[in-house]
Amino acid sequence: MFGRSLFAVFAVVAVASGCGGGSESYASIVDKAKNDKKLVIGVKADQPGLGLRTPDGSFTGFDVEVAKYVAKQLGVEPSGITFKETVSANREAFIEQGQVDMVVATYSITDARKQKVSFAGPYFVAGQDLLVRADDTALTGPEALNGKKLCSVAGSTPAQKVKAEYAKEVQLQEERTYSACVDRVLGGQLDAITTDNVILAGYAAQHTGKLKVVGKTFSTEKYGIGLKKDDTAGRKAINDALEKMFSDGSWTKALQASVGASGFALPQAPQLERY
Ligand code: GLU
Repeated sequence: MFGRSLFAVFAVVAVASGCGGGSESYASIVDKAKNDKKLVIGVKADQPGLGLRTPDGSFTGFDVEVAKYVAKQLGVEPSGITFKETVSANREAFIEQGQVDMVVATYSITDARKQKVSFAGPYFVAGQDLLVRADDTALTGPEALNGKKLCSVAGSTPAQKVKAEYAKEVQLQEERTYSACVDRVLGGQLDAITTDNVILAGYAAQHTGKLKVVGKTFSTEKYGIGLKKDDTAGRKAINDALEKMFSDGSWTKALQASVGASGFALPQAPQLERY
């Protein structure tokens, strides 16, 4: 008798918690949001202006604002969102394993990533650039990379581009996060960080007078919101939310409030790719 009721308790707990791993399956993120009023969203934690964990444990930045707006349109209030740190290398895996419901983390839409996840967006277009020490007058752009020591992040598109196109000229150090790269360039062990201009602008603003963005982009990075592969209803609902964010002024307001202070020239909202 005792054994059976204990089993029943365990069974109820297991169902209620989605078997504990956060990997409950659902047909679409739309259903999960509607039914649970909760979402787990992957964001960066060390990128000022975009995705940054504050000392009190909350998250700020443009990606976080985009995530909150989209969640609200799906029926989830900010109190129903759990933000979870993702780094560049684990974004696809986190989505595939159900550790997060979506990723809003300076996440470029690429064909290779589309093999594993789906994307809504783009909601922002950046470009690969270089961040160097403020007194560096030699590293003027990708044409001056010969013999340089670069830092980027494993699993990122900028690291991939360096390995594919500049392998002969440069030495590449791959870190887990961009903030780890910043310390190495400040300390003089490495010459430059390469990643998206808007990310670099945030670090330059954090270290005014010590670091500067070169300002010659050499790629196009379209930021998408990653979600489970083939969640067509989810993609449509998130694209609808983004369209609303663009048209009601919230997008511009969020960008100004989060990225504006870095001095980054704010672009217009991009065209959504509704495939
Ligand atoms: N947008 C690029 C990427 O998705 C670089 C930024 C990042 O690593 O998050 O890989």
